[in-house]
Amino acid sequence: MTDAAARDALIAPHRRTGRLSGRCLCGAVSIEVDGKYVAAIGACHCVMCQRWSGMLFGSFVAETQGVAVTGPVRSYVSSSFSERGFCETCGSPIWLRATDRDEPEIELFPGLFKEAADFALLSEIYTDLAPNYACLKGEHIRRTRAEVQAKHPFVEGDN
Ligand SMILES: [Zn+2]
Ligand SMILES: [Zn+2]
Repeated sequence: MTDAAARDALIAPHRRTGRLSGRCLCGAVSIEVDGKYVAAIGACHCVMCQRWSGMLFGSFVAETQGVAVTGPVRSYVSSSFSERGFCETCGSPIWLRATDRDEPEIELFPGLFKEAADFALLSEIYTDLAPNYACLKGEHIRRTRAEVQAKHPFVEGDN
């Protein structure tokens, strides 16, 4: 089985089609999902994600065409291949997306959506950089920085 096929097999049980409604801390930004999404979280302990989240970063993916964001969102180009959106009033993270390719999915943050409280934890990456206070228990995929970067050689800016 290829890596892509193995990943698809793990994600498949979590694929959903439906609606989710989320909002930022101040309420100025709302996010509506109406379409396909994966009801499972990928956590990342890379230095960029730690800085941006303040502690623990985790996201789920939704098909971009089904996602509608309204309100004052600004974006920050965090690497040569990605951009992070946030509420310009309260600073809540809103999305993370690829800028170097035509990616059909966008990453969204479970804390903005009440419905996401029962999503599973699917994976955890940069585990060797995880601080003591962000240890995630349970059975899920774990990958170290070296393992991640062996497959994604263009990651940069994580120090
Ligand atoms: Zn806000
Ligand atoms: Zn990260």
